[in-house]
Amino acid sequence: MPSSTIVIIGAGITGLSCARTLANHGQASLILEKGRGVGGRVSTRRAQNGMTFDHGAQYITAKSEEFRSIVDEIRSTGAAAFWEDGSGAERIVGTPGMSALAKYLAAGLNVQTGKEVDRVYETSSGWVIGSGDNTFECQKLIITAPAAQTARLLGENHPLFKDLSEVIMTPCLTLMAAFGSDQPKPFITRRDPDDVLAWIALNSAKPDRLVDNCWIAQAGPEWSAQRLECDLEDTARAMSVLLCERLGADINSINHAVSHRWRYANVAKPLGSPFLRNEQDTLYLGGDWCLKGRVEAAWASGNAIAQKLLKTS
Ligand SMILES: Cc1cc2nc3c(=O)[nH]c(=O)nc-3n(C[C@H](O)[C@H](O)[C@H](O)COP(=O)(O)OP(=O)(O)OC[C@H]3O[C@@H](n4cnc5c(N)ncnc54)[C@H](O)[C@@H]3O)c2cc1C
Repeated sequence: MPSSTIVIIGAGITGLSCARTLANHGQASLILEKGRGVGGRVSTRRAQNGMTFDHGAQYITAKSEEFRSIVDEIRSTGAAAFWEDGSGAERIVGTPGMSALAKYLAAGLNVQTGKEVDRVYETSSGWVIGSGDNTFECQKLIITAPAAQTARLLGENHPLFKDLSEVIMTPCLTLMAAFGSDQPKPFITRRDPDDVLAWIALNSAKPDRLVDNCWIAQAGPEWSAQRLECDLEDTARAMSVLLCERLGADINSINHAVSHRWRYANVAKPLGSPFLRNEQDTLYLGGDWCLKGRVEAAWASGNAIAQKLLKTS
């Protein structure tokens, strides 16, 4: 059974931030990620003919000096750039896709993808972690999945279950759609919390995107919750009609329309502190859900866990 001092579940921004801060101080860790790649909700979907869609986080902002310096570092390598979307706000995006941000953070880290952790249990010397036929052992375990998934993994008898259950996260149905280049592009981004399509963005207006007229539309939390279990093709059709109405585009000119279901997209009620831990200091739980549904908050949570581990080890 492979043994590490620190195992991190999840290679989203929280897990990557934690592992990177540890690595910067000479402390190794192993990240187990269920997906095929890193980034979690910071992700880019590739489609036919070079189309790309950032179907999770749209852009990042950097308010703290610490996060700003990481973002500046990523920009200096060409893996991120400013996005002038006409809003006047400073928005930074990964280039050529949002996933480039996560890939940059993951470079040099020990990440095993395709490893969905389905059980964890505590022993006298630490933790045993199971993923299908594989088991891993560690002294310190960090879980960075969304709060509800973390709660399920730990079970309802765990002392931290109640804190996790009080966090509220909301879903988001997202449409990735592409039109012929003759179709209208009336704006670059539009946010309207009162509309079913609460956010619409011309994804191809971001720097380094190769194919024109590719759009992202996100439904608001109520509409998303009502239709969460609907067939994704039906959702794509329904959202395409709504998007065409808002753009003034011809529905027959859509040449790509795929929807994605984010079950835990945003944070409606956060924990209110950067992480949770057990009394023995062997278990840490983090994620954007601790602070705010933002990439910067995820990064802050992971970084805070790492700083605490470095102090206690
Ligand atoms: C549609 C949408 C739009 C958004 N827009 C923005 C935006 O414009 N700006 C912004 O700042 N933020 C935005 N966000 C929020 C931002 O994406 C998140 O705050 C941030 O990415 C959360 O990072 P995280 O690491 O905490 O969680 P996640 O990204 O969810 O990472 C958790 C990781 O854990 C893995 N995992 C879960 N369970 C297991 C398991 N059992 N075993 C192994 N691995 C597991 C998951 O696969 C995932 O990779 C948006 C999110 C969505 C969904």
